[in-house]
Amino acid sequence: MATAPRFWRENPSRYNLMGFKCNSCGRHYFPRRSICPVCHRKSVGKIEEVRLKGTGKVFSVTEVHDGLEELTLQKPYLLAIVELDEGPKVTGQVIDCEPNDVKIGTPVRATLRKLSEEGPSGIIHYGYKFVPFKEKSP
Ligand SMILES: [Zn+2]
Repeated sequence: MATAPRFWRENPSRYNLMGFKCNSCGRHYFPRRSICPVCHRKSVGKIEEVRLKGTGKVFSVTEVHDGLEELTLQKPYLLAIVELDEGPKVTGQVIDCEPNDVKIGTPVRATLRKLSEEGPSGIIHYGYKFVPFKEKSP
């Protein structure tokens, strides 16, 4: 069985960031929570998978010089806490940018990237990363 997180749609042309919404209070969560921490029992059976826009703003950012083994070829890298438009704060690497381009409040967009591929079984791990979001179209 593939271990890719279920909150990503498998369709490679549409890498949607899937989150979860509590239909009791309307809050959004990412990653999945089976129980809403605000509504507790009232939220049972009311957590619904929803598509997040994947856009948000940098809440805090750190330049990391000593990272995970899989990232050693890329270091230093930027690790940010991003506040998504729907409200959840998620941690992710910011890529395709210069360190000076990313500040608190910088608009970013989630993108799905292949993180690693394992052995004969060919298990592919995906994860989200963030890229600075430019308002103007190319
Ligand atoms: Zn709730």
